[in-house]
Amino acid sequence: MIVAKSIAECRAVRAAMGDSLGFVPTMGALHEGHLSLVHESKRRATKTAVSIFVNPTQFGPKEDFSKYPRPIDEDLLMCREAGVDFVFLPEPIDIYPTDAAKMTIEFPELFGVLDGVHRPGHFAGVCQVVAKLFNIVLPSVACFGQKDYQQLAIIRAMVKALDFPVEIVGCPTHRDPDGLAMSSRNRYLSTSERDRALAISRSLFAIRDTAARGQRDVVVLAKQLQDGLLDGWQSPVKVDLQYGAIVDVDTLQPIDRIDHAAQALVAMKVGSTRLIDNVRLTIGHG
Ligand code: AMP
Repeated sequence: MIVAKSIAECRAVRAAMGDSLGFVPTMGALHEGHLSLVHESKRRATKTAVSIFVNPTQFGPKEDFSKYPRPIDEDLLMCREAGVDFVFLPEPIDIYPTDAAKMTIEFPELFGVLDGVHRPGHFAGVCQVVAKLFNIVLPSVACFGQKDYQQLAIIRAMVKALDFPVEIVGCPTHRDPDGLAMSSRNRYLSTSERDRALAISRSLFAIRDTAARGQRDVVVLAKQLQDGLLDGWQSPVKVDLQYGAIVDVDTLQPIDRIDHAAQALVAMKVGSTRLIDNVRLTIGHG
């Protein structure tokens, strides 16, 4: 496995990789969820590249950029064992020299909801870094997790709008056996916080079942979701529910009633750790 640290090195390595290159952009602190993207990339392309870069421009001033975990040796070992062909490991100064961080991409509708509201500037930072990484790594396929559902929708929109010659693949959310969606931020959780965090997947699964039984009314489903997140938890852990929303699967705009399918998304702070998760709601024949 080759580790490229500069853009020039990365371009040279990439040039030797041939046409079929799968790409998994990450911020490191890798877990099984990231590795499931690597496996998908290896199924779809001859070679696979992973980037590990904690992108400063997607963190707000009060967010966890400086304390974000950076276990780089473990990450490289996991990549090697997963059969990754090359890792791009740049520094912020390589990615953002001079004015590069001032260039922004915006999608008003997709940025104007959910995490776009609660994390101003976040998706502009994501688009900035992903656009640059695509131009440096030149992948034919790139794998992203449905765990970051809004991010995936925005990347798809960006690739379409700017004609990036890359196929975007959305991969299922990888979960711990008890349902908690895997996240690099889960390592911040204490035992009691982790128990409380189970409310997120459990309430999402509960409304998925309710929808599957035929409930189409979003007000009813949203109320069940909110109750599941906030009620009946005998726990000293403080939570801050930022949103529990049911939206159109493509536009992410609010809906009143589910025709065929919808997406339910949650962002909740558990203690000081902000967690997100989502599920697809599909109406059964109720
Ligand atoms: P991150 O390192 O958090 O920026 O994530 C890098 C990529 O891994 C993104 O495409 C995420 O959506 C994806 N990812 C993170 N957690 C999971 C998970 N639990 N299951 C599947 N994909 C994930």
